[in-house]
Amino acid sequence: MRKPFVAGNWKMNKTVDKATLLVADMLPGLEAVKTVDRVVCPPFTSLMVVAGMLAGTEIGLGAQNMHWEESGAYTGDVSPDMVKEFCEYVIIGHSERRAYFNETDESVNKKIKAAIKVGLTPIVCVGETLAQYDAGQTEAVVSAQVKADFAGIDPKDAMDLVVAYEPIWAIGTGKAATSDQANDIIKNAVRKNLAVQFGEEVAQNMRILYGGSVNAANAKEFFAMSDIDGGLIGGASMKPEDFVKIVEAAA
Ligand code: PEP
Repeated sequence: MRKPFVAGNWKMNKTVDKATLLVADMLPGLEAVKTVDRVVCPPFTSLMVVAGMLAGTEIGLGAQNMHWEESGAYTGDVSPDMVKEFCEYVIIGHSERRAYFNETDESVNKKIKAAIKVGLTPIVCVGETLAQYDAGQTEAVVSAQVKADFAGIDPKDAMDLVVAYEPIWAIGTGKAATSDQANDIIKNAVRKNLAVQFGEEVAQNMRILYGGSVNAANAKEFFAMSDIDGGLIGGASMKPEDFVKIVEAAA
């Protein structure tokens, strides 16, 4: 049985004072749902403060990105060790980073390996563009991403990795995929290729999330699907009541 997993990606939102208020608002509700792994991913500037607020709870903390190098002349970037000082998780390969910051499957692969090396659990995002979706290329695109992103990773390190299937056309647009569509791609493009890479047993144990306009009203339908193990939540993760409801829907 895979334990459900819900992570909130706050993107480039919330100053430290606002992050503090948001965590304080959602903390009691999140703490109550013990049967779901719950993670929040604020911007770097709030990680230290939020880590303090989450100390002693079972709620995980994640960063939204990191560099793969251990240290060096990479102005403006953050190393795996720096993330590990505060976090257990790191989002890697989010479509916004792929679209605006030249993130490629090659850099995603390096980042996954670097995260594993320092003991961080990566939440790896894959998904197709609207043009690829319209051209009927979803399965091929997502399969190719999974193969490239996880190349060379040892199956013994793969079990704990989390993958998020996020159709790019559904992120922040209010246009969610249908639960059947999402489940079909997760099963036939994500889990199937993970099984080729890591073996059936490992693939059956890995959590695969759906992300893209999940909200308090549609979450239950997604999380009821056989291969959807939870969600990566953007906008709705910054509305305390809605995020708690989404987490409850995964229980
Ligand atoms: C995301 O940021 O990963 C995301 C899925 O955003 P939203 O839920 O707003 O579509």
